[in-house]
Amino acid sequence: MRIDIITCLPRLLDSPFSDSILKRAQQKGLVTVQVHDLREYATNKHRSIDDYAFGGGAGMVMQIEPIDNCIMALKASRTYDEIIYMSPDGNLFSQAIANELSLKKNIILLCGHYKGVDERVREHLITREISIGDYVLSGGELAAAVISDAVIRLLPGVLSDESSALTDSFQDGLVAPPVYTRPAEYKGWKVPDVLLSGHELKIESWKHEKSLERTKLKRPGLINE
Ligand code: SAH
Repeated sequence: MRIDIITCLPRLLDSPFSDSILKRAQQKGLVTVQVHDLREYATNKHRSIDDYAFGGGAGMVMQIEPIDNCIMALKASRTYDEIIYMSPDGNLFSQAIANELSLKKNIILLCGHYKGVDERVREHLITREISIGDYVLSGGELAAAVISDAVIRLLPGVLSDESSALTDSFQDGLVAPPVYTRPAEYKGWKVPDVLLSGHELKIESWKHEKSLERTKLKRPGLINE
């Protein structure tokens, strides 16, 4: 899979991809993440990528031309399955959307800044809009990092068997059961006996029971939906 991220602040995306699972996924060749600096696609002499809003109002607006230039340059090299604009009013990101995106070959994530992008970008250049939650960030970079992380960890070979994404919350419509590690007792706080029993069947049914219990308590909507 290949993820191209378009941003006017490429440095914001340095660290999320240079450690741990996301770094290893790239080293193993399971995903290519390319960050593109929008300013390199600006044609004016100051390389500016934003301007005042027509009609007035506070805040700058990202111009269509550098964004279009960048998308055209990328499209000249390959076909994209999705060109996604990070937007607080987009579809709410979920495990289901992460699963869906993990099956795509090439995607572009476009990060906005300031007041957002010129509306014509949204009308003509993108295929979809995703929000990571009902709050406003100062830029789309963190949202793009969240989406990339959730998608990349699903790619075959990225996670080792024991941390398989299939046992994580939401994959089976339930949240994950509690987990424990050594010591078996700390300050008198004990790990449930069943987990130390070595009885695989009992452990599996305990985990399922706890998942259900937790889902009812913390995310009742998942069960009623
Ligand atoms: N004026 C816009 C907010 C702009 S915030 C509005 O009121 O809707 C600047 C940029 O941050 C946006 O263009 C978008 O790319 C990104 N962004 C902000 N909040 C986001 C969220 N919840 N999910 C995804 N991207 C977000």
